[in-house]
Amino acid sequence: MDVLQLKDKNIVVMGVANERSIAWGVAKSLLEVGANVIFTYRKERSKGKIEKVLANYTDYNTDVVECDVNSDESIAKAFTEIGEKYGVIHGLVHSVAFANAEDLHNRFVETTRDGYAFAQDTSAYSLVAVAKAARPYMTEGGSIVTMTYLGAERVLDGYNVMGVAKAALEASTRYLAYDLGAEGIRVNAISAGAIRTLAAKGVPSFNTILHQIEEKSPLKRNVTSEEVANMTMVMLSNLSSGVTGEVIYVDSGYNIMG
Ligand code: NDP
Repeated sequence: MDVLQLKDKNIVVMGVANERSIAWGVAKSLLEVGANVIFTYRKERSKGKIEKVLANYTDYNTDVVECDVNSDESIAKAFTEIGEKYGVIHGLVHSVAFANAEDLHNRFVETTRDGYAFAQDTSAYSLVAVAKAARPYMTEGGSIVTMTYLGAERVLDGYNVMGVAKAALEASTRYLAYDLGAEGIRVNAISAGAIRTLAAKGVPSFNTILHQIEEKSPLKRNVTSEEVANMTMVMLSNLSSGVTGEVIYVDSGYNIMG
C-alpha cells in the first residue's frame, strides 16, 4: 500500500546546493516515490550540482528553476513559471538559510543592523514570501515544510544571528499555519540535528555540537540526512494530515535533555 500518496504530486524543493544538502535527501526520497520534483537554486554553482546529480535520474520528472529568496521579483518569476507549467503545487520544502560569516564569528553583541536584517530576510521572511507566492497554486490544499534548528530556543555558541532568525522562522511557521489552515495548507518546521553540509561549515562551533549530541542525546549519535528526509516525507504526505504549525525534532532526542 502506498501510504505516502506522493506519486505524481508536484513538490517544490528549495535549497539543494550539493548532494550533502538536507534538501537533496528529501528530493531523492520524493523522486523514489514518483513525485514530480521542481528544484529551485540561487547560485549557478548549485544549478550545476543539481543538474549533475539529476543525470542519474533522467527517467524521473524534474525541473530546475532559479529563485533568489532575497528578491521578490525572482520569487514571483519562479512561482509563476512553476504554476503555469504544473497548475497545482502540492508541497513545498523550504530548506534555505544564510547569514554573513562575520555575524557567526563575532560575538552576538557585535551583530550589525544590516547583518541582522539580512539573516532575517534570507532565513525567516523567505518562508513567508514563498508561501505567499505558492499559495495561488496550492488549490488542492498542501504542505509546506521548513528546516529549523535548536539554536532558535537555546543559546548554542556561535549560532548567534542565525538562532534569532530561526526563532522568527518558527514563529512564522505558526502564523502561516493559522492563516493558511482554512485553505487546507499545512505549515510545519523540522528541527534537524547537526548534519555536515555546506551551510554547517559556516558555524564555527559545529564540530563541538556534533560531539555534544553523540555524548548527551538519548540515542547517543547524530542523525543522518535520510532521517530528516524521512520525517519530511511524512510531513509532506497525508500521514500528517492533522498536524500544522508544529516544530518536529529529528535530533536523536537531544532537545529533551537538561
Ligand atoms: P546547504 O548549504 O546544503 O543548503 C543551504 C541552501 O540555502 C543552499 O542551497 C543555498 O543555495 C540556499 N540559499 C541561501 N541563500 C539563498 C537565497 N538568497 N535564495 C535562495 N536560496 C538560498 O545546507 P543545509 O542543507 O544544511 O541547510 C538547509 C536548511 O537546513 C537551512 O535552513 C539550515 O539552517 C537548516 N538546518 C541545517 C542543519 C545542519 O546541521 N546542517 C541543522 C538544522 C537545520 P545557494 O548555494 O544556491 O545559494
